[in-house]
Amino acid sequence: MECIFCKIINKEIPSEIVFEDEKFIAFNDINPKAPVHILIVPKKHIPSVDHIEMEDKTLIGELILVAQKIAREKNLAGYKLLINVGEKGGQLINHLHLHLLSGKSHLKSLNI
Ligand code: AMP
Ligand code: ZN
Repeated sequence: MECIFCKIINKEIPSEIVFEDEKFIAFNDINPKAPVHILIVPKKHIPSVDHIEMEDKTLIGELILVAQKIAREKNLAGYKLLINVGEKGGQLINHLHLHLLSGKSHLKSLNI
């Protein structure tokens, strides 16, 4: 398996895990763009939002709820959730993931 996030899920490469259950893993981004920058990753290998199917709709809802849970646990005053889709959308890793970003004042007005 070539996928770096599947390797993180399988503990073949290390990461700073902040949350894990049977369906998701969340870990600190290795190259943080904000003081809090966590990636929330479904364990199911879905390459991108463009590959989501109807059968995944519960999983995608739960993905947002995991972000909410982590944000509450960390007492984040506000945060941004971001999903890059496809190479031209800035997606570097082809395993669906949600960026949770917080702690930088410019995020408030970030429009990307
Ligand atoms: P994206 O551009 O949306 O595909 O985001 C990929 C993110 O994964 C980037 O913010 C990278 O810094 C991050 N990343 C890449 N490799 C690792 C790794 N081994 N551990 C943690 N984060 C990583
Ligand atoms: Zn994968």
